[in-house]
Amino acid sequence: MLVTLEPGADAQAIQCALVERGLWVRKLEGGASVEFWIESQSAAVERDGLLGIRGVASVAVPQRLHPLVDAQPRSIEIGPARIARGAPATVIAGPCSVESKAQILAIAERVAALGVGLLRGGAYKPRTSPYAFQGHGERALGWMREAADRFGLGVVTELLDQASAASVGAHADLIQIGSRSMQSFPLLRAAAELKKPILLKRGMSATVEEWLLSAEHCLVHGAPAVIFCERGIRGFDQNTRNLLDLGAVALLSEVHGLPVIVDPSHALGRRDLIPALSRAALAAGAVGLMLETHDQPGVALSDGPQALPPSELDALLRGLGLAATGKR
Ligand code: PEP
Ligand code: MN
Repeated sequence: MLVTLEPGADAQAIQCALVERGLWVRKLEGGASVEFWIESQSAAVERDGLLGIRGVASVAVPQRLHPLVDAQPRSIEIGPARIARGAPATVIAGPCSVESKAQILAIAERVAALGVGLLRGGAYKPRTSPYAFQGHGERALGWMREAADRFGLGVVTELLDQASAASVGAHADLIQIGSRSMQSFPLLRAAAELKKPILLKRGMSATVEEWLLSAEHCLVHGAPAVIFCERGIRGFDQNTRNLLDLGAVALLSEVHGLPVIVDPSHALGRRDLIPALSRAALAAGAVGLMLETHDQPGVALSDGPQALPPSELDALLRGLGLAATGKR
């Protein structure tokens, strides 16, 4: 239930009164008036009793499950890029993993020359096997920031655990939450408290509702905006790595009006199909694409088979009508 206070009411006293009734209370600020969201299952709630508390203006059953998502900004500036429906599509490009300073500098130079605005790269990698390359961590963050700054790019990188939140926050412009972490709620909170926009990848088995509610967690804890990233859900066919859910892209984009970026690289796991699914993603309403790009995919330490060499990224962007016309 949603308890809205009268202007000038003593919010602290009202919060105490609610807690004393055994209610679980979350304070919502930032709107026109102070509101408390109360968990009505945690105790029998007498609506009339709550209305009797001095300073309470109304008690209502909320109509929306994720009000902050519904109200979040529709145009989001990240480094040199503007992410919005109707704006030129945003391209995030770069390697799966930051492998060395030389590698990220070389790739940053190539993608910047193609007019890409945001550089991606994993410093902390969520790998299925503990024996696979886990990323260079903090050092890679510094290499990536340096490369991005040298070529006028923004940085997109994954936050994998709370311990690295401060350093990821200090280096990144857009905080990526990986598919495997979409419902890691303490991590979402740590990411949100960095007060930077979040790129929230869809969990590989997550429903759209769960995805939206994870975004709500981010916004409740202070993230200025959430960009949704569809990266494929679990299918049964091994011919592609995952199943790109374009229906969900259209739903979030066209029905909810939310910004969705599609990552065809992880959805497909193979570079040959990336142009076709990139076209499809933009047609379905995506505001941008995240494209793994590597100058030497054959020796990449992770996800080489799905990485585009810069020449193929160039051809793709030309084919999409996104060839270099300035940063995007
Ligand atoms: C990634 O973007 O490098 C990544 C690990 O993606 P996902 O979380 O979608 O698997
Ligand atoms: Mn990858």
